Amino acid sequence: MTTSSDVLRLARGDVSALPHLGSELAACDVDLSDNTNLWGAPPAAVRVLREAQPEALSRYPSLYSEPLRSAMLRYVGMESVAGIGIVTGCGSDDVLDSTMRTFGAPGERLAFSSPTFSMIPLLARLNGLEAVAIPLTNSFDVDADQLVGAQAKITYLCAPNNPTGTMISRAAVEYVVANASGIVLLDEAYAEFAPEVFADLLTQSERLIVARTFSKAFGLAGLRVGFGVGNTTLTRLVERARGPYKVGGLAERAVLAALEPTADGLEWVRAHAALSIANRDRLILSLRQLGLGVLPSAANFVLVPHARARELARVMRTRGVLVRPFGGFPQEISAFAESGGAALRISVGPWEMMETLINVLREALA
Ligand code: PMP
Repeated sequence: MTTSSDVLRLARGDVSALPHLGSELAACDVDLSDNTNLWGAPPAAVRVLREAQPEALSRYPSLYSEPLRSAMLRYVGMESVAGIGIVTGCGSDDVLDSTMRTFGAPGERLAFSSPTFSMIPLLARLNGLEAVAIPLTNSFDVDADQLVGAQAKITYLCAPNNPTGTMISRAAVEYVVANASGIVLLDEAYAEFAPEVFADLLTQSERLIVARTFSKAFGLAGLRVGFGVGNTTLTRLVERARGPYKVGGLAERAVLAALEPTADGLEWVRAHAALSIANRDRLILSLRQLGLGVLPSAANFVLVPHARARELARVMRTRGVLVRPFGGFPQEISAFAESGGAALRISVGPWEMMETLINVLREALA
């Protein structure tokens, strides 16, 4: 019989080196750790799930989410642009992963700004890619020259950026899209909270793919649906790498309901995104009144650089509030110099939750 160490040796090195995620982030009364919609899900989507018939369980869904495509294209304002397609995925993680697998051969490079979405270097490694990190500038923009200079097969941009919450400039995105040597993967997971989106650049480049998700503003993280928009040749290639049946039939129906322009569908989503933006700006003021530095945010979360981030998060957790501590951010970015590269990320939700958060954080700081 083989021992577990034999199995470890048999595994691909890129896989056995990856961490198993999540033990630090077990559930808590007030969970402000994952930037989901803390008001819940659109009632139209909930109703679809409640009223589902048994066939929705016993039959396979569509191969590549064909019924969702036109609604998704309409949502991103691309329905009348010729040659633009959609690739869906089991969450946008799946779209990011499949895009890397489609274009990045093992040993090739993926360039990204640091810090960014923590899955990016992990997915890159899983796909055998060399992840090249370029620090954000002091004003939290991407360093477009250096990103392009990395000559990567895939360049990843995140707007607004997770975990900083900050926006990147249109000039930098345009420069990267025009000059990057390979594919540009633009992650707009938090688009609904941002002052600006960049999907219009799809008309200027066949090598751009924009990734979106239903996990954040749409309140459907439990269904695991994301999508990429891009030139149809590109999206069809990514579908091949992704494989069939990645979005379940019930998820498909719930997403369609959430995209309907009704008071309990898309209007609900937009109204709650607006509420989140208002609460975010109010939260930033309250945190500054506690004497904390807070990064400007264009998302539904805020980042607070603090040397004691890990300890604060631990204490807050014992008091029922879960926030996400980070460490190891590039200290050449001036916002992180004083905190030694550590910070707390806090999701924005209903104001009662924000009041609990502020009280618990004030106690933890004392
Ligand atoms: N991109 C970014 C920037 C994110 O923050 C997240 C979720 N944390 C994702 C993609 C993935 O989201 P999902 O797989 O739920 O669509």
